[in-house]
Amino acid sequence: MKIPIYLDYASTTPVDPKVSQKMIKYLTINGIFGNPNSRSHSYGWEAENAIIKARKQIASLIGADSEEIIFTSGATESNNIAIKNTSYLLKKRYKHIITSLTEHKSVLNICAKLEKKGFKITRIIPDINNGLINLKKILESIRSDTFLISLMHANNEIGTINDIKNIGKLCKNNNIIFHVDASQSVGKIPINLKKMNIDLMSFSSHKLYGPKGIGGLFIKKKSKIFLKKNIYQKNNNNNVQFGTLPVHQIVGMGEAYKIAKKEMFYEIPKLYYFKKKLWKGLKKISGIKINGDFKKSIPNILNISFNYIDNISLIMILKNLAISTGSACSSGNKESSYVLKSIGINDNLAKNTLRLSIGRFTTKKEINYSIKYIKDSIKKYNFFFKTL
Ligand SMILES: *Cc1c(COP(=O)(O)O)cnc(C)c1O
Repeated sequence: MKIPIYLDYASTTPVDPKVSQKMIKYLTINGIFGNPNSRSHSYGWEAENAIIKARKQIASLIGADSEEIIFTSGATESNNIAIKNTSYLLKKRYKHIITSLTEHKSVLNICAKLEKKGFKITRIIPDINNGLINLKKILESIRSDTFLISLMHANNEIGTINDIKNIGKLCKNNNIIFHVDASQSVGKIPINLKKMNIDLMSFSSHKLYGPKGIGGLFIKKKSKIFLKKNIYQKNNNNNVQFGTLPVHQIVGMGEAYKIAKKEMFYEIPKLYYFKKKLWKGLKKISGIKINGDFKKSIPNILNISFNYIDNISLIMILKNLAISTGSACSSGNKESSYVLKSIGINDNLAKNTLRLSIGRFTTKKEINYSIKYIKDSIKKYNFFFKTL
């Protein structure tokens, strides 16, 4: 068992060995290293075919058509393109965007920037405790100049799953573009874009056992407003980066998505089982509390708070576990999590919070070890402070 045990799959996942093996074949002189834009020889054609295949694999996992996928450097860029480009496209007539307080920083930042440029932003407060976005609150926020609703599918800190199917219906009925950040949910819970009214969807490769630095944006073909044509200038590889596509990255992402599609139906129950086991083992610790909604959340995230122990101490006493004090992006600073604050968790408790996230390579042995290790460490800590 490798120590520290990796329990931070929600911030990034290791590349699946099957993925890295595949990627290696797209780099060197004996592999398919050509420029997909090279039209005059087989090196280029092979590279282009590899991209076509990867795009199909990605589309297939989310129920999209190949032509509806564009490649980006990751979900951060996808979020930026989706929100910024839609806004500038429609700014003559529409001014209002609806989002929520629990979105990823990349969404919140771009919305804040647009606000400074004159757009109006409504940030919905999620339901206290479970963190879900209530449909009634969305409906109440809609104005005559609302053109975009941007909400995440699953939250990266507490794992809560929003009802994107019904939010999509609501958007359609009100003629509003719907953007979904699905970075945490793709491959973790089933998504079928054919059955949903989603216009734009962001996703990443490195949250699903693919390489970092590559991601995608789904742009619905039959969107009311013809987004695709306007959002980016089409070139023959459907990429927004305009330059040479990173074939090895794209092939890696394709393979990762293919594997996810094949494995998710026994991977999901396995992860739910581990998460349940983890919580069952930990919940007897006095002063422990679970954040978010255990049932309406993705199978790999468990967010817990401890009364009386701040997370700097927690990280120190739990040094055999690689865990996060919130999301990766906010664990660097000492501010308590804005996601937890927005679901009504007081500042103190929010500072005493850990996110445990599990994944494909988590083992039963690691779960058992972690439960015992956390229990013992906290017991020792409490004993130490009692005897002071
Ligand atoms: C990780 C994450 C992102 C950013 O994805 P990158 O591919 O790392 O840019 C955006 N949104 C959510 C919800 C995430 O979890």
